Amino acid sequence: MGSSIEGKVAVVTGAASGIGKAIATMLAQAGAKVAIADLNEAGAQVAAGEIAATGGTAIGVAMDVTDEAAVNSGIEEIRAELGPVDILVSNAGIQIVNPIEQFAYADWKKMLAIHLDGAFLTTKAVLPQMYANGRGGIVIYMGSVHSHLASPLKSAYVTAKHGLLGLARTLAKEGAKHGVVSNVVCPGFVRTPLVEKQIPEQAKELGLSEEDVVKKVMLGGTVDGIFTTLEDVAQTVKFLCEFPSAALTGQSITVSHGWHMQ
Ligand code: NAD
Repeated sequence: MGSSIEGKVAVVTGAASGIGKAIATMLAQAGAKVAIADLNEAGAQVAAGEIAATGGTAIGVAMDVTDEAAVNSGIEEIRAELGPVDILVSNAGIQIVNPIEQFAYADWKKMLAIHLDGAFLTTKAVLPQMYANGRGGIVIYMGSVHSHLASPLKSAYVTAKHGLLGLARTLAKEGAKHGVVSNVVCPGFVRTPLVEKQIPEQAKELGLSEEDVVKKVMLGGTVDGIFTTLEDVAQTVKFLCEFPSAALTGQSITVSHGWHMQ
């Protein structure tokens, strides 16, 4: 029996790199037609090309998830090229670390715009396609262990990631009668460019060696001192995409080597 993802149209934002790219690749391997929507257009085209080279179906789409017009035209382009959207994985994100009293207001707004406005705008753009004729759909937000816990220096990130739980739960209630389910995936630290950048930054702010930032700050709370992998997160998203009912909706699933236990 093929995967229930076979032939579905999936949009993954921020999929030119890291976790989003791994999710797009795994969904394409399961037979989805995937749109790689990213600010980094060249990266999106490269990622789509890599999927196509292994026999999958993928297109790269330039999209700044904080720009309503760009989101709407990008989602329309995807509908025109691949068909109506069945799966949205709202994943695009960045990190800015600083203590609150030094956190630039512009950086705070940028963080909330990418993580929260981006999730809202992409959801709003795909829902009419999912609601039409009761087609239904799956919306997955990329949260974090920081959807449940706080860490110093990450006020905007922690606030935004907590906020995604609220959006997912509201959509779970509104979308139910249209067959739309909505969940949040909450990874621990995964060694992507987003995390590599933080290691020296946190070492400087916290007065630790880079080795200690990894060992104590990033992995200190895990049960085994091991990074979560791209595949771990992609596998969790795939599981949610294949899950057959609304028994799992409005939930968050943490994938973090026991760093946070719900
Ligand atoms: P990454 O830096 O490897 O990839 C992020 C992608 O988002 C990039 O391709 C970037 O171009 C894109 N992007 C940034 N701003 C955008 C915008 N305005 N519009 C469209 N695309 C934009 O990062 P990653 O580690 O793969 O992170 C992906 C998601 O996973 C983020 O939401 C992040 O918060 C979350 N997350 C990461 C970790 C981790 O440890 N890496 C842990 C938990 C959650």
